[in-house]
Amino acid sequence: MSVTTPQINPTVSRLRCSKSGQEVSIGNVRQCPGLCSCCPAPGKPLVVEYDRAHVRAAWAPSAAPSAGLFRFAAGLPVVGLAPGYAGDVGDTPVFYHPRLSEELDVEVFLKNESRNPSGSFKDRGLAMGIALGVAFGARRFCLPTQGNAGVSAAMFSARLGLPGALVYMPDGYQGSIYHQACRHFGGEVVFAGENIAGAGKVMRTALEAPLARGEYVDISTFFEPGRLEGKKTMGFEIAEAFAGNPLPDVIFYPTGGGTGLVGIWKALNELRDWGLSDPAHTRLPRLVAVQSDRCAPVVAAFEAGARDVTPVVSRRTVADGLDVPGAIMGHAMLDALRESGGVALAVADVDIESAFADFGQIGLGAGYESAATLAALREARRSGAIQAGAKVLLLLTGSHLVPLSMSSARDARRGVGS
Ligand SMILES: [Zn+2]
Repeated sequence: MSVTTPQINPTVSRLRCSKSGQEVSIGNVRQCPGLCSCCPAPGKPLVVEYDRAHVRAAWAPSAAPSAGLFRFAAGLPVVGLAPGYAGDVGDTPVFYHPRLSEELDVEVFLKNESRNPSGSFKDRGLAMGIALGVAFGARRFCLPTQGNAGVSAAMFSARLGLPGALVYMPDGYQGSIYHQACRHFGGEVVFAGENIAGAGKVMRTALEAPLARGEYVDISTFFEPGRLEGKKTMGFEIAEAFAGNPLPDVIFYPTGGGTGLVGIWKALNELRDWGLSDPAHTRLPRLVAVQSDRCAPVVAAFEAGARDVTPVVSRRTVADGLDVPGAIMGHAMLDALRESGGVALAVADVDIESAFADFGQIGLGAGYESAATLAALREARRSGAIQAGAKVLLLLTGSHLVPLSMSSARDARRGVGS
């Protein structure tokens, strides 16, 4: 029997403010770090940095194939997890899709994250964030959610035998698949607010004291540094999938909070900085952030040439994961897009729904957010932004079952028969 005692990885050298660049020594951190204290309140996300020589000496991704995303342990912030904790997280395949390639006259590769244990890529971030919080002494986790993140938080809390995650959902999510799945994994669900931001506000007021004492960790997107580190394993896996070959020219990423976008870029750059990148990977991919035109703060900021994202009023998109009107890590998303030579694109919900229907027709199980990447690629081919023959990777982030169950619930509320 293996014992789980998460500890901070000795390869971690420091934390750094993503906005100001100010360093925080990891030795001075007594509880799970939240946002920085150098920037105006509430602060900006802190990111983990590693000691290059130490990572290089310990890097052995193929050594423990049953460890799931902890295969990349040397470049991750926490060690000491039993193999069963996250053995089924990550390691999603990258595969070539002939039919989409033929339709669009480009080489289409897909990375389908719906194979993760709770059905979405959120598992990567929450598996890491919860393990890191526990390594810092936390015993319970809370977050606002209008999607899969709450389910993942409940699942990984259950795996470590912690008290159920406290999950704040907007009013109106009662009985939804997210609500039911959170409860299934032992989460305690509270309904408050009109949207994820409102739910978060209520949560931070209600839990102010235990959060300040470090008993609870606010594991909202980018409020602690672990989720980014979990999500970046997608970047390590993409590099591995194209070993000996050039990386894709372009990666289309459905963008809400942007953890994966920032994470993939961090991972590809870390491999370079650590001297571990494949000799064939001389050029990094251009990143394309895909949003719904009903909630597109990153697109607006990118097009305006802004350095940070200004919150917008969401007009509600069918793609829950893209319904993020503000983004605390907007500055890093914009940096990643510009450094990579990429772009931000908004697509109409009607095109997302049509791409989702097409996924069904070709036997591809992925949700609305994933369908948005296909809608964006189609648009980019029409406009000529992506040229014929380009090598394109679409990130498919979660299962088709969620939108199917949510749309049947919506239809039932409207009294539509099936
Ligand atoms: Zn700061």
